[in-house]
Amino acid sequence: MDNVNLKDPQNPSGPVKIRNLKMHVDRDLCIGAATCVAIAPQTFVLDSEAKAIILATADNDPDNVIIDAAKGCPVAAIIIEDETGKKIFPA
Ligand code: SF4
Repeated sequence: MDNVNLKDPQNPSGPVKIRNLKMHVDRDLCIGAATCVAIAPQTFVLDSEAKAIILATADNDPDNVIIDAAKGCPVAAIIIEDETGKKIFPA
């Protein structure tokens, strides 16, 4: 997964901005379960360390799909905030 097109190549797991959402993956928490990849395949992929990274195509997934992916993560490693920094998930 070294040649994927990342939303922010400097910060593969974020934070990135997707419309009005700010999102990052806590790499220490992520266990590579890939639930996020199944729910939002245009947003997430696993890197060579089996940690979720954020694709450039993330903007193609609607907000509710991205939030559903965060909710589906078994260890709540996907953190989403609104533009004011208020946590959307985990609440
Ligand atoms: S669902 Fe959570 S633990 Fe699984 S790959 Fe995604 S961020 Fe990591």
